[in-house]
Amino acid sequence: MTVLETPARPRTGQIPDDQRAAFAAYVLQHYRGFLLAINFIAMAAYDSYVFADALLIPDMALTSLLLRGGLSLVGLLNIFLVFRYSRSVLLMDMLMPLHDIVSTVAWFELLKRSASPDVPTFLYASVVFILLGNLGVRYSFRGILACSLVISAIILYNVSLIHAGAPKALLVFTLVYLPVALFSLFISWTNIRGVRQAFLADLEGSRQRSELAALNLRLQELAATDALTQVGNRRALDLQLEQNWRQARQNGRPFALLLADIDYFKPFNDHYGHPAGDQCLCEVASCMADTLRNGQAQIFRYGGEEFVVMLQVTSREELQRIAERLRERVSSLSIEHLYRPDALRHLTISLGGALSSSEGLQQPADLLACCDHLLYRAKQQGRNQTCLAPA
Ligand code: GH3
Ligand code: MG
Ligand code: MG
Repeated sequence: MTVLETPARPRTGQIPDDQRAAFAAYVLQHYRGFLLAINFIAMAAYDSYVFADALLIPDMALTSLLLRGGLSLVGLLNIFLVFRYSRSVLLMDMLMPLHDIVSTVAWFELLKRSASPDVPTFLYASVVFILLGNLGVRYSFRGILACSLVISAIILYNVSLIHAGAPKALLVFTLVYLPVALFSLFISWTNIRGVRQAFLADLEGSRQRSELAALNLRLQELAATDALTQVGNRRALDLQLEQNWRQARQNGRPFALLLADIDYFKPFNDHYGHPAGDQCLCEVASCMADTLRNGQAQIFRYGGEEFVVMLQVTSREELQRIAERLRERVSSLSIEHLYRPDALRHLTISLGGALSSSEGLQQPADLLACCDHLLYRAKQQGRNQTCLAPA
C-alpha cells in the first residue's frame, strides 16, 4: 500500500490563506456559544459591581446605577444585533472587549468624580477589566492585543491621574496590574493557538480520510481487476456470480453466462511467443468489452485464455445474438494464426452459454460447469462457434 504523502505543514497555528473562511466557519460552529455566553457573563459581572460602588463610592451610587443600566441596555442591543444578524466571527470575538473598553472608561469617570477615601484601593478592581477582556476571546489575537493595549492605556492613564503626586502608589499598582495583564494576554494567545491547532488537526484529519477513501477505492478496483487484460478478475467474477445468482433467485429474473475460449491458443503461443500471446489476450478482451459496451454486461478473465461474460438477458435468442456478435467481432480482428491445425488462418473464439434458469442448475458453480460443458461441445463441433443450453 502506498504510504500517505505528508504535505508541507503550515507553521504551527498558521491558517493557510485559502482556509481562512473555513477557519472562521469552524470558530463559529464551535465557539459561538462560548462567545455569546462570555458577553452575558461580562455584563452580569459589570452590573454586579453596582453594589461595590454603593459600598465604596456611595456618592456615585445613583450615577453608577444609571450608568451601568444604560450601558447594559446598549450592550444587550449590540449583543442581539451582532449574534443575531452578523456573520462576522471577528465582531463576535471582539464585542466583549469593545464593551470592556467603554465600561472601563465609564467606571473611571465614576472613580474620578468620587470623593470617597476608598478610591485608591477600590481602583485595584480595574484588573477585572483586563482579565475578562483577555480571557474571553477565541479568534483574533491581534484584535485582543489591540483592545488590551487600549484598556491598559485607559487604566494606567486614569490611575496615574487619581494617584497624581504619588509615584509609589502608581508603581505598586503597575506592579500588580502588569503581571495580570501580561499573564492573561499569554493565556489568551494560548487559547487562540489551541483553537487554530484544533482546526488544523481537523483539516488534516479530513484530508487524510478522503485520501484513504480514494486509496481504498483504488485498492478495491485493483483487487477486482485482471492485471493483464484490465477486465474483471476471477475473484470479481466469483463475487458477481454469487450476487447475480442471489438476485435472480429473489426477483425471478434470470441472467446469462457465456464462457469464451480462444481456439488453438497453445500453438499460437508456441509459434508467436508469449509476449505476442499476452498482446493477443488484451486485444480479444478489449474487443469483447467494446462489443458489450452498450449492454448491461460484465466481462471477466476466468483463467488462461478463457473469459466469462455475464449478461442481464432473459431469453435464449438474445443470448444467441450477443454470443454470435462476440464471436464475429473477435474473428474480424483478423489476428494472424497460421499454426492452427484447421483451415482457418486467423484467431477465433468458441463460446458456451446458458441462462441461470436452465434445467438442473442448483447453484452458481452449476451454471459455470454447464457453460464449460457447452464450450467443450463447441470445440468438439469444430471451434469458432457458439453452443448454448436449450431454452
Ligand atoms: P483449444 O482450442 O482446445 O482451446 O486449444 P488451446 O490450445 O487454446 O487450449 P490449451 O488449454 O491446450 O492451451 C491454452 C494455452 O493458453 C496454454 C498457454 O500457452 C496459453 N496461456 C494461458 N494463459 C496465458 C497467458 O496469460 N499468456 C499467454 N501468452 N498465454 C497463456
Ligand atoms: Mg482453455
Ligand atoms: Mg483455448
